[in-house]
Amino acid sequence: MTLDIRKIRDDFPILNQTVHGKPLVYFDNAATTQKPTPVIEAEADVYRKINSNIHRGVHHLSNVCTEAFEEVRKKVADFVNADSREEIIFTRGTTESVNLLSSSLGETYLQNGDEVILSEMEHHSNIVPWQLLEKRKGIKVKVIPVTDQGELDMEAFKALFSAQTRMVAITHISNVMGTINPIKEVIDFAHSKDVPVMIDGAQAIHHVPVDVQELDCDFYVFSGHKMYAPTGVGVLYGKRKWLEQMPPYQGGGEMIDKVSFSGTSFNDLPYKFEAGTPNYAGVIGLGAALDYLLNQGLETIWEYEHKLFEYALEKMKSVPDIRFIGEAKEHTSVISFLLGNSHPFDVGTLLDKLGFALRTGHHCAQPLMDKMGIPGTVRASFAFYNSREEVDRLIDALNRVSVMLG
Ligand code: PMP
Repeated sequence: MTLDIRKIRDDFPILNQTVHGKPLVYFDNAATTQKPTPVIEAEADVYRKINSNIHRGVHHLSNVCTEAFEEVRKKVADFVNADSREEIIFTRGTTESVNLLSSSLGETYLQNGDEVILSEMEHHSNIVPWQLLEKRKGIKVKVIPVTDQGELDMEAFKALFSAQTRMVAITHISNVMGTINPIKEVIDFAHSKDVPVMIDGAQAIHHVPVDVQELDCDFYVFSGHKMYAPTGVGVLYGKRKWLEQMPPYQGGGEMIDKVSFSGTSFNDLPYKFEAGTPNYAGVIGLGAALDYLLNQGLETIWEYEHKLFEYALEKMKSVPDIRFIGEAKEHTSVISFLLGNSHPFDVGTLLDKLGFALRTGHHCAQPLMDKMGIPGTVRASFAFYNSREEVDRLIDALNRVSVMLG
């Protein structure tokens, strides 16, 4: 199957605009992706046609809305090949999923002196929640170093394990460098030591097929907004055996079975972890995004994006004084770079004036920046609605910026 880019671009109305008088080139997809019309319409249609608080009503609208919401849970379960829909918890996004997990595990499973292994390339949202547990519970965070190529040092990873190791939480794909980590090897090794693994799939779920049963990960988390779905919705996948043992994260409506002042009992999975009115319109939008992705075909998307990435990388090598940050063998469609000694903000600001949306800064990965000894990078991240023509324009723009910055 091939992608009809012209048709695809028509599905993303936001792409068709000018910025500072220049046609917009949106290369900031690792921060958030744009939304196709079917997703925008699906969310708007909730408010146009079926808006009603879910789960609690006996009336028609509430039932229709609840059904649409729960259908998406099934769709997500199928998308990641979870064993059952009860293993899919809706959250606000990756950040909330990690916080849910660390808080809940921190209540009972993780104790003073226990060790959690992260990596140097984690997003802050997979660092800080565990650091909060260091303060609250006295756990210890250990860190897998990253090589100069931007890959996990797997020997160092294995050497980090001790009798106190209780959890591994690492990213599937680096948001800064695009490195695809060998998560299957990570999971298998951790399991050989009886240690569960959480995978941060924020940068992976829309690029590579994810099969949680084949991976055998204990938890897998991601955000809707990075996979063409609305903002404010995300997922925590967890193996039932873990979710059943874990205490609730937040208290409120929906997560209870029975409430009384002499004691409260909790609802079954997945509702035990979904306190309060969820973002059902966003979830229904997520369902439309999954349909959209499946219609294009994940493998087709991967092939297209990978070719575009290789094309861009090759062309960018001709830009004077360009330096790439992270050159891992297994790579998704993200390129982080610096131009000579120029500050990434200066490069980003000049590119903006030429109509380009690229992200500059530390990308919420300050420990990685410290490791690399840089203040930040300029990051181009591609989606399947980007084209070679846009890449060509970026190369021209980078050549101009390079001259401007001397
Ligand atoms: N992990 C990774 C690897 C990310 O790229 C991001 C978003 N940049 C997050 C976690 C956090 O996602 P969110 O802000 O959607 O919660």
